[in-house]
Amino acid sequence: MKYYSLSNPTIKKSFENAVVNGIAPDRGLYFPEEIPPLDTSFFEELPQLSIPEMAYTAMAPFVGDEIPQAVLENILKNTLDFDFPVVSIKDNMGSLELFHGPTLAFKDVGARFMAQCLGYFNSKNAGQVTVLVATSGDTGGAVANGFLGVEGIDVVILYPKGKVSKVQEQQLTTLGQNITALEVEGVFDDCQDMVKTAFLDQEITAKRKLTSANSINVARWLPQMLYYFIAYRQLAHRKEPLVFSVPSGNFGNICAGMIGQNMGLPIDHFIAATNINDAVPAYLETGQYAAVKTTPTISNAMDVGDPSNFVRIQKIYGNNFTQLKDHLSGYRFTDDATREAMREIYHTSSYIADPHGAVGYLGLKDYLEKHPGKYGVFLETAHPVKFLDTVEETLERKVPMPERIQSLLDKEKKSIGIKNYADLKSYLLS
Ligand SMILES: *Cc1c(COP(=O)(O)O)cnc(C)c1O
Repeated sequence: MKYYSLSNPTIKKSFENAVVNGIAPDRGLYFPEEIPPLDTSFFEELPQLSIPEMAYTAMAPFVGDEIPQAVLENILKNTLDFDFPVVSIKDNMGSLELFHGPTLAFKDVGARFMAQCLGYFNSKNAGQVTVLVATSGDTGGAVANGFLGVEGIDVVILYPKGKVSKVQEQQLTTLGQNITALEVEGVFDDCQDMVKTAFLDQEITAKRKLTSANSINVARWLPQMLYYFIAYRQLAHRKEPLVFSVPSGNFGNICAGMIGQNMGLPIDHFIAATNINDAVPAYLETGQYAAVKTTPTISNAMDVGDPSNFVRIQKIYGNNFTQLKDHLSGYRFTDDATREAMREIYHTSSYIADPHGAVGYLGLKDYLEKHPGKYGVFLETAHPVKFLDTVEETLERKVPMPERIQSLLDKEKKSIGIKNYADLKSYLLS
């Protein structure tokens, strides 16, 4: 499979090249040259297949012969070695829990898959690679965990001092080995700017091979399609049309689900649920796309004003507005509505949702009221303890800490404080 740049289709690269470089030389996002349909017999057999078998069939066409079958099978087995249950919320609604991985957020799957692909490609080329990544919270932990102990790779994570939660900070700063956390005096945008500057700094790139691990990378984006296959595997016995509501920020997760649908996965409809950072719901109403200025909310992993994967979504539906609207509904909700939804889910279904999942629930609930007879799944993208203060304050109760989080909180934090780009540069050159 070749990948081309969405801003210039004549730029075509291998899977390896797309993974190692992340973004095309013209700064465009990579997109697969084709979306290969799967046999209908595969979907009939799917409930009987193991998750790694199913995952291999779905992902193999996107990797081609660039990773040997046994290696890819092993990568997928390691990537998916935790649970992804669909928990019943109501007669016509379930919650797909994507938070049972090591860092309690759905980004674990993409980060682990990417880390292992990069590890494989790197083992052929020898030489050390540095993954440089800025995080506002969740990405850093998932990337650190995914790359921990991967040979030939150093990970350097920049995070804004005092701006990530305690759990998130511990996930970044306690691993050791090939993971280094740089604690930046500043905000997330400062971290992001420094990373971008470093990629363009020839003094650094002459000395260190740098790569990024953000969600633009096809190896982080595409394996997220597997969530929808995994959910379908549990729901295939249901007769109703299947709808997914996805709490969305950069729109990578929902976009991967759409790739699955185009491969033949029986998904009736998608719902993009956002907080008040609503560029996509607004587009679906007006047909005019405009980035919005990012506003902080309680579902902060979705505080994205200009979602980078939206161009991929448009591509999937042939850049046709009517076609896109047939497949996708958009909703946006305020923090007040989100808190109200958390209370409603808790009181009517005895279920504790995190703020992101609650936004997904709200979109789904409204859609199902208008379209009875369908079965809906909202994606629960983070464990409620990752947003402990908001959840406890909203539900007016304590939320039990999973044991592994408790032990994480007791570990010793190790970070290097930096103030500016000069500090980052001298660290990278040392
Ligand atoms: C990253 C994230 C999202 C948004 O996912 P996208 O793929 O960027 O749309 C939603 N919820 C949580 C908890 C996240 O960490």
